[in-house]
Amino acid sequence: MKKNMTCEFCEGRAEQRVIRARFHHKKQTLYIDNVPAWVCNRCGKQYFDAPVYKRLENIARHREHIVKTVSFPLAEYDMVFG
Ligand SMILES: [Zn+2]
Repeated sequence: MKKNMTCEFCEGRAEQRVIRARFHHKKQTLYIDNVPAWVCNRCGKQYFDAPVYKRLENIARHREHIVKTVSFPLAEYDMVFG
């Protein structure tokens, strides 16, 4: 297991964490809890090791087995208040 990783975008340092990952697959987004990932401590970009990514893909391909759903607020940038 790697100990250190440098962010490709901002050259910040990525550290290993267990996160709720947002994963895009075939134009759909799903969230997967307790995923080991690398998170850049500067820009927040998430990276997955290859075996982790493969597993996320596997889960996404079998999304019909997912029983839990979360919902979250979705705003539009052109909304203006007050
Ligand atoms: Zn970064």
